[in-house]
Amino acid sequence: MKILDVLTEYGTRSLDRTFSYAYVGTKPIGPRYRIKINFNGHLAMGFVMQVRETQDSPEQFEARNGYPLKNITNEDVVDDVPLMDESMMTLAKEVADYYFAPLISVIQAMLPLSLSPKLSSEHGPKIAYEQWVQLVSADENGLTDKQIEMLRLIAKNTPILKKEAGSPAILKKLIEAGRVTLFKKEKQRLQIPVNEREEPHEMTELQRQAYQKILDSSKEVVLLQGVTGSGKTEVYLRLSETVLSQGKTVLMLVPEISLTPVMVEYFSRRFGPKVAILHSELTPGERYDEYRRIAQGKASIVVGARSAVFAPLQNIGLIILDEEHVESYKQDNAPFYHAREVAIMRGKQEHCKVVLGSATPSLETKARAVKGVYGYAEMNRRINEKALPKTQIVDLTDRRNFNAKSEKLSAPLQALIQEKLNRHEQVLLLLNRRGYWTGINCPKCGYIFTCPQCGGNLTYHQEDSMLKCHHCGYVMRYPERCPDCGNTHLRRIGYGTERVVKELEDLYPGVRVARLDSDVSRVSKQAVAILKAFKEGKYDILVGTQMIAKGHDFPNVTLSAVVNADIGLALPTYRAAERTFELIAQAVGRSGRSSKTGIALIQTYNPNHYAIRFGASQDYESFFRYEMQQRKVAKYPPYVYLILLEFQSSNENKLVSFAYDFKKDVMTQGFADVSAIGPILPYYAMQDGMHKRILLLRYKNRQQMDDYLHEALPRLNGLSGVKITVNVDPLDY
Ligand code: ADP
Ligand code: ZN
Repeated sequence: MKILDVLTEYGTRSLDRTFSYAYVGTKPIGPRYRIKINFNGHLAMGFVMQVRETQDSPEQFEARNGYPLKNITNEDVVDDVPLMDESMMTLAKEVADYYFAPLISVIQAMLPLSLSPKLSSEHGPKIAYEQWVQLVSADENGLTDKQIEMLRLIAKNTPILKKEAGSPAILKKLIEAGRVTLFKKEKQRLQIPVNEREEPHEMTELQRQAYQKILDSSKEVVLLQGVTGSGKTEVYLRLSETVLSQGKTVLMLVPEISLTPVMVEYFSRRFGPKVAILHSELTPGERYDEYRRIAQGKASIVVGARSAVFAPLQNIGLIILDEEHVESYKQDNAPFYHAREVAIMRGKQEHCKVVLGSATPSLETKARAVKGVYGYAEMNRRINEKALPKTQIVDLTDRRNFNAKSEKLSAPLQALIQEKLNRHEQVLLLLNRRGYWTGINCPKCGYIFTCPQCGGNLTYHQEDSMLKCHHCGYVMRYPERCPDCGNTHLRRIGYGTERVVKELEDLYPGVRVARLDSDVSRVSKQAVAILKAFKEGKYDILVGTQMIAKGHDFPNVTLSAVVNADIGLALPTYRAAERTFELIAQAVGRSGRSSKTGIALIQTYNPNHYAIRFGASQDYESFFRYEMQQRKVAKYPPYVYLILLEFQSSNENKLVSFAYDFKKDVMTQGFADVSAIGPILPYYAMQDGMHKRILLLRYKNRQQMDDYLHEALPRLNGLSGVKITVNVDPLDY
C-alpha cells in the first residue's frame, strides 16, 4: 500500500506537521502534488510531502497504529505535475525554518492563487485560451464567393484569430471542406508594452570598475553603494547582459510595485521580450499567466516587488535588489519574510551572485560589507560629475521663518517654490503622512477619536470625508458632533498630504499639483500614470509620501523639500534615525539630476539632530559610524538579533500570565547575552476582539535561540488558549 504524508492547508502552528493517507488511485502522484483530503470531517486541500510504500495492508496498519487511514482516489488528485521543483521546496523549508512559520503558509505565499495548496484555489483563474484558424489548403474549387473571400483572408494571414476571420457559419463550411483547421493557444493576459530597443550607454569609468569588482568578487553577496544619480541601473543591466549571455537567468527586485514599470522598461529596451513581471498587484489571471510563463522557461528576466523573490526561475545567475534598504521588502504580516534574506538564501542555493544596491544601505548590510562578509563596490560620484544639490535646513521652531500666509510651508520654502514655478522647473514635496487632518478631538470634554478596533489614531480624509485608521483599515463617516458631550465644534489638528495640496493651491493660484500616496495608488495604475504625467511636465508640483522619493529620475525637478522631517524621528522604533536619514538623503537625491542645478530644503523642529544634519549633507559614512555607536550602546541590530513574539488571546488575564511565563521560560535557559523587553501592551492593542501582548527578545547567539524556539514554540503555543505569532528581525520596536 502507498502512504501519502500530507500537509493540510491550515497554516497554524499546531498543525505544522504531516498527516497520513492511503493512496488507492492509479494516477501519477508524488511530492508537491495537491490532493483533496478529508480532514477531521471537512473537505480540505492537502499538499503531498512524501510517498511511502508499506508492506502493511490497511487492516494491519490500523491494528498497528490504532486508527484507520482514509483513502485517496484518482478523483482527489488535483495536479498532473508537481506544483514546484525541488529547489523551490528546499527554499520554502529554509524560509519556514528561519521565520518560524508553518511550512504550508510559506508555500502558499510563494504560489499564485490558482496553484496554491488551498481549496479556494479552485476559484482562481483558469488558463485562458484563444481559438486560432490555420490554413490547410488554398484550393478554391467548389467554394462559394463568400467562402473564397474568407479563404483568401486566412491564406494571407494564417494563423489568424478565429474572431478576426469573420462569419462563424462560413468558417464552419471551410473547416468541413478541409481548407482550414482550428487550434487553441494559451492567451497571455498581461500585455507588457513593447519598447524600442536601446543601445547600452558607454559605461563611465566608475561604472566599469564597479561592474568588474562585482563580477570578480569572491563573495556571493555584494553591496553596490552608489550615490543617487551615479547610474546603478546601467550596472545592473550590464551585469544582467553578462549573465544572460552565459545562458542563465536574472531576478531583478524593486522595493515598490510602482517602480516595476520603470525597471521593466529599462530591461525590455535592452533585452526585448524575455522579461516577465511578477508582483501582487497583477490580477490573479495575469499573475498566473506570468508565473507559468516563467516556470516554463519562456522568460529569462523577472522584474518584480517583494513576492517576486519566489519567482519559479530556473538556472538563476544573478539576483539584484535595488534600493535594498527599503523596508517594504519585509512583509508586514505572517510569515514576515524579508526579500533580502530570502534572496540571499536563494543565491546560496543557486550558487549565484546577489547584488544589493543602494545609496543609503541599511545598517545591517553596510556592517556586513565593512566586516568583509559581503563584497563591496562603490560609486561615489554622480554621472557626468554632477554636484549633489545644495541643502538648506529650515528651523521650524524659529517663528521668523514663517509669514502670515502659511503655518506649514515656511517663508524660505514659499520663496523657492515661487522661483521654480517662474522658471518652469518642477518641485517635489515630501510628507510621510496621508490624509487631511491627522487628529480630531473635542476641545470641550477632551474626547479623542481613536480606532475602536486597534486603538490607533484616526485621520480625516477630505477626499471621501471619512475618518480612517491607517493601521487596521477601520473607517467611519466624519462625525458632526462629539459622541460624548454633543459639542459640534470639533478641534482638528495636524496635517497630511491632502492638506498640503490644498495649501499650495491657495498659495499659488493656477498651479498644477499632483498627489501621490498609498491612498491614490490604491487604484491600480494610478501611481504609474501620475509619475508619468509629472515626468512629462503635466504638473508643476508633486506632493507625496516617501514612495515618490525612491528610484525615480525626474530631470526637471530642481527643488525637493521635506515638509516635516520630524515625523519619522518620533516613531517608537530603534530605526527612527535611520528612517529619517534615508528620507532626507533620498529627497535630496531627487533634485538636480540633469544639467540644471538643484536645491533641497528640509523643514524640521530638530535642526541639530544628527540624522537630519548628516542627511542634509548626504554624509552616509558619518551617519553610519554615529548610528552604529548608538545601536551598540542601546543593544540593537546589527549588534544583536531581534525576535518579536506576539501573544493573542480573548482572555486578558490568561494572556498576561502566559506572557510572563514565556519570558521566564526563555530567561531561565541560562543563555548568555539574552535580554527581553516586555511583555508590553502594544500601541495597537486589539485585533478582532483579541487582546495582545508583545515580548521582544534580543540575543547574540542566533543558533542557540533558534534551537530553543524550535523546541519551545510548539510546546507553548496554544497553552491557555494563547496564540503566538513570531516576527523574526522586526523593523519596529
Ligand atoms: P541611480 O539609480 O544610481 O540613482 P540611475 O541609474 O537612475 O542612477 O542613473 C541616473 C541617470 O544617469 C539616468 O538618467 C541614466 O540614464 C544616466 N546614465 C547612467 N549611466 C550612464 C552612462 N554610462 N552614460 C550616460 N548616462 C548614464
Ligand atoms: Zn485601527
